[in-house]
Amino acid sequence: MASFLDDREAVVKKIIVYTGKARADIEKLMEAKKEKFAGLLTEAGAAFLVAKELGVDLEFEKNIATRLKLGQLEEGMNNVDLEVGVKQVFQPKKFEKGEKKGRLCNLLVADDSGEMRLTVWHNDVKKLEDEKIERGAALLLKNCYVTAFNDKKQLNLGYNGQMIVLSEPTAGLPGQAREAVKLGELKPGLNDVDVVARVARVYEARDFESAGRKGSLQGLELVDGSGRVRATAWNDLVEEAGKLVPGSLIKIEGAYTKEGMKGTELHLGWQARIIVEPKKHSLPFLEELGGQTVAKKKLNELVEGSGTVQVTGKIVGVYKGNLAYNTCLKCGKKVEEDGDAYRCAACGESREADLNAVIGVGLDDGTAEVRLVAFGDKAEKLMGWNKAELRKRLQTTMAEKLVEELKQQLTGKEVSAVGRAKENQNTRETEFIAWEIAFKETQAV
Ligand SMILES: [Zn+2]
Repeated sequence: MASFLDDREAVVKKIIVYTGKARADIEKLMEAKKEKFAGLLTEAGAAFLVAKELGVDLEFEKNIATRLKLGQLEEGMNNVDLEVGVKQVFQPKKFEKGEKKGRLCNLLVADDSGEMRLTVWHNDVKKLEDEKIERGAALLLKNCYVTAFNDKKQLNLGYNGQMIVLSEPTAGLPGQAREAVKLGELKPGLNDVDVVARVARVYEARDFESAGRKGSLQGLELVDGSGRVRATAWNDLVEEAGKLVPGSLIKIEGAYTKEGMKGTELHLGWQARIIVEPKKHSLPFLEELGGQTVAKKKLNELVEGSGTVQVTGKIVGVYKGNLAYNTCLKCGKKVEEDGDAYRCAACGESREADLNAVIGVGLDDGTAEVRLVAFGDKAEKLMGWNKAELRKRLQTTMAEKLVEELKQQLTGKEVSAVGRAKENQNTRETEFIAWEIAFKETQAV
């Protein structure tokens, strides 16, 4: 056992596997340890201390031998540790059961002995999303329990459970990673398809009734450089799809295709899932994919009345403002606060109001600096906060402080936007109202 602790590389690898941290970050922590001990620490010693500090189980391999396989599990088993490959992740669901409220997510996991449904809850659902866990990922599951439903065994990650994403999985795990299909290669009649694309358009969500059943759908237009496809997200996926904005990079897993009015259409049914800005994939910027045919303009060329144009520049500041205003729940128009109610000119008084985000940033492309104004999901995208997060922040923090925070966050970032130039009635300066906005990606190091 002592021999592997002498091995710096072995320890570093275990830290990577256990924590998911980048090697460079681990080495930085090791450097700090070595500095602290003024050169008295060996490389392996530094790695060992960092592992200990991060709570990494260095006896990891020893435990693998006693780990069970899916095929050995029986209903009622507790405290089971397993290493599994992810075959499928379903879209997370909200649930409400009596007092209990939260989210759950079902996965289909496998090892070389079989496959099983796994259910994770609350924070682990968030972890799945935050870590953008895709099909093909390897997970170390600790403290699972086994239940059965309709005679089918089911794995659950409970309160004491732990889900660790293995960045360097044990060899021999069923590899479920698969290539995404290019949009240009989609044909009708495909099942369980993965695609990576940029959103070119987000249509209005619609409710429908068919054969007595109510549902909703959200249309999207996707591009990836090989083709342009109309996609439809159904029911459970409408909320997620509705949050997308033109320029969003997404991976869709588990979609199916159908012949549509304008060629092959992609459908996101109950088995599908959307991963926004997936870690492992990239695509050129939207306009480079031919997603748009709008004229590109320099900021010093902007004049009101010149139609829809595209601009690109660096954010040089964030304008003071409230970052949001109250809107009518029914019609979406701005409402006035009136005591403890909100007054809509069209719909009358209401106790509750919705929120619409708004942000103004200074945009500079070397030719001029122009105020770019974004509303709604475009503003949310710029802020990096969704509506709920913004609402929460505004309840606890002064808008002025949030503007400062955003300044830190955004200054120096390059964005591209499609929209229209407009003269501000008060300042007489030309502003740019953004309809579509996306950050230019900087190469991750
Ligand atoms: Zn109204």
